[in-house]
Amino acid sequence: MAESVRKPRPAARQSLELDPAADPFSHASIRQLAARYGSPLLVIDAERVRGQYRRLAAALPGVDLHYALKPLPHAAVIDTLHAEGAFFDLATNGEVELVRRLKIPPQRCIHTHPIKRDSDIRTALAYGVNRFVIDNPDELRKFVKYRGRASLLIRVSFRSPEARVDLSRKFGCEPQAVPELLRLAADLRIEIDGLSFHVGSQAAGPAMFVEAIARCGELLRTAEKLGHAPGILDIGGGFPVDYLQRGMSIEEFCAPIRAALQELPPMRFIAEPGRFICAPAAVAVASVMGRGQRDGRWWYYLDDGLYGNYSGQLYDHASYPVEALVPAAATYPSVLAGPTCDSIDVINEHLELPLLDMGDLVLGHVMGAYTWASASEFNLFPRATVLALDRGRLLTDEARR
Ligand SMILES: *Cc1c(COP(=O)(O)O)cnc(C)c1O
Repeated sequence: MAESVRKPRPAARQSLELDPAADPFSHASIRQLAARYGSPLLVIDAERVRGQYRRLAAALPGVDLHYALKPLPHAAVIDTLHAEGAFFDLATNGEVELVRRLKIPPQRCIHTHPIKRDSDIRTALAYGVNRFVIDNPDELRKFVKYRGRASLLIRVSFRSPEARVDLSRKFGCEPQAVPELLRLAADLRIEIDGLSFHVGSQAAGPAMFVEAIARCGELLRTAEKLGHAPGILDIGGGFPVDYLQRGMSIEEFCAPIRAALQELPPMRFIAEPGRFICAPAAVAVASVMGRGQRDGRWWYYLDDGLYGNYSGQLYDHASYPVEALVPAAATYPSVLAGPTCDSIDVINEHLELPLLDMGDLVLGHVMGAYTWASASEFNLFPRATVLALDRGRLLTDEARR
């Protein structure tokens, strides 16, 4: 049980679970998978991972897409993206270890955690990942002993109160403090290769990207004046997906970002999408363990909940579209609750659902990002089994960590 996330072995690729033409998220496919593997499940569709990657790549031509592992650090996603020519964004020793095991070339990876222990830097460098992010003088000084071996980006913070998850509150150097940091780097004889930012996850619109790109353009000119030769702008992640509410299409979202990048001199542009790549590429499958009538509503107790795949409701402030896999029928006010003995473990108290019975399946959509990744085994309910499928073939069935 020690090594559990592995590259799918050739033998695993031979197992044909579904008709290759079938949509793995169709009701028939989900029923088939649940009958064979039980529940709870997280079903990843490699074809959708590919589709999301291609769509974002087309919307951001000339931008290298580094998949941020954090929202769904799974071998099948990484292998699929690697085959597409993607790059990767790592933040921890565990993520370095995962890409190392999957034989992702280190030149295709950057390490973007702004705060690192010396051992984190050494682990990444030992694998060959040599591009890092810093956001303050203490972090910069950690690289004095790696001078010439590490390439550094300064992460700039742009506060984005309307983003669902405001990452500039915790990380990043205020724009007005960047020149001072650039000067210190010059004094320490450490090259700064560029700037990065992250406007916050599930960004509400592209305006903050546009503003941040323009401001970074000015700061890059300052860097040159201070003796650096910066050649990289990393615009981070934050590209949104539709949950219950529909937003603008990714093409619409990226158009003003492209225009803003075109205003800058030629350089290497990087983005670090996480959610956009993986969120629509997985569904969660739970089944009814028991039910009861309370206060005039049907309560259904599922084998997955807020401590499992639905953890994103707490940590990521997401609400997922859910659907019961039963024939259409009269509906009743219903509650979906998780399996643990904790009273906060309730997925949704305001649903109208047909009458469900033991073993009936409940499907959660758009559940690839920040779901399984943040699930725990509270109450010792095991995390969901992950099934990754590519045109009917099971890529791995041993991805549980
Ligand atoms: C989490 C994270 C990402 C991915 O963000 P999404 O909003 O999922 O696209 C990218 N870069 C960094 C540094 C992150 O911490």
